[in-house]
Amino acid sequence: MAAPVFQVDLDKPFDQQAKVGHNRWHPDIPAVVSVRPGDVFRVECKDWTDGQIGNNDTADDVRDVRLSRVHVLSGPIAVEGAAPGDLLVVDLLDIHALDQAPWGYTGLFERTNGGGFLTNEFPHAHKAIWDFGGIYATSRHVPRVRFAGIIHTGQIGVAPSTALLAKWNQREKELYDTDPNRIPPLVAPPYPENAVLGPLRGTEFERVAREAARTVPARENNGNTDIKNMTRGSRLFLPVFVSGANLSVGDIHFSQGDGEISFCGAIEMAGYVDFHVDLIKDGANTYGVTSPILQTSPLEPRYTEYLAFEGISIDDTGKQLYMDATMAYKRACLNAIEYLKKFGYSGEQACVILGTAPVEGRISGIVDFPNACCTVFVPTEIFDFDIRPSAGGPQRMVEGNELARASS
Ligand code: ZN
Repeated sequence: MAAPVFQVDLDKPFDQQAKVGHNRWHPDIPAVVSVRPGDVFRVECKDWTDGQIGNNDTADDVRDVRLSRVHVLSGPIAVEGAAPGDLLVVDLLDIHALDQAPWGYTGLFERTNGGGFLTNEFPHAHKAIWDFGGIYATSRHVPRVRFAGIIHTGQIGVAPSTALLAKWNQREKELYDTDPNRIPPLVAPPYPENAVLGPLRGTEFERVAREAARTVPARENNGNTDIKNMTRGSRLFLPVFVSGANLSVGDIHFSQGDGEISFCGAIEMAGYVDFHVDLIKDGANTYGVTSPILQTSPLEPRYTEYLAFEGISIDDTGKQLYMDATMAYKRACLNAIEYLKKFGYSGEQACVILGTAPVEGRISGIVDFPNACCTVFVPTEIFDFDIRPSAGGPQRMVEGNELARASS
């Protein structure tokens, strides 16, 4: 077993652990662990909300979640000898749920507290609990679905340099200022309330909390990429921006569909990651790497048949947009959801399926103006009945959804 260098007690809040991690990005958050190139080690993580979501049948906790608390990250982990301009080579040797918590959750956020990709269509909080049986996930809230998860790190990254952090804050503020009252917001700007910054205290804590970037988006340090293929067996190449690199990880997902369309849309869980790290000295400079590169894993769920739902860049009112891939993907997802509803799923359940199963999302065409064409590939084998179109029409396979309805 890999030596644990960062452990968590699920019964204690994040800021009362033996080692205190962080929930903001800033170069001045001190490393709490140090490792050497070539080391193999284990890092445990709480779920991204710090245990705010319970294993029960109400979505009230999702509705009321304090998002200023997220994402709780384990680290920073300093890698001896790492210097700006290097490439940090991060092997995700294994990722697993914690033995004491073999379950996870998926949420649709309330429009006024988080929102999400389909918040206009699904404005109210919804929750599904998933139980893990080895590599498989099933949910009492999503009947007749079972799939092998693609377990991955939703958020992993290195500390930004002071200059890079300033660049993030500048460009994000410019966007934020175009519509500061928007719901959901355009940007999550620095927000000191509920900041956890490792061992920092006093005036230094206050300064860093005011400057530190929120963990919501993916950025050049990797961050919250939510790439489902960042799974066990994959290798990540991260450009190093500060001395020691300061690697952090959290937001582990048992599984997720491309796009994580319900925002809290993966199967969120507490878990551990076994790492091997190494350095390519000056590698970021040598290869011209300014954003991370992922080398995929030999180990992923293998589904052989999909229904691919198409979407084009037409907005909710029927207006033609020019090559808008986000809108096209939204249309593809909504087309899939409408289709799955014919079998008896609620819209929320269908959204949860797309957000959690190993669904492939693709930009299939991006040149045939004016329509971008995006597709969402749903594996047919995750259902225990036939979802393919046939002359007989869709059978109502999912009736009596009381539990699912109770959780919306
Ligand atoms: Zn997550």
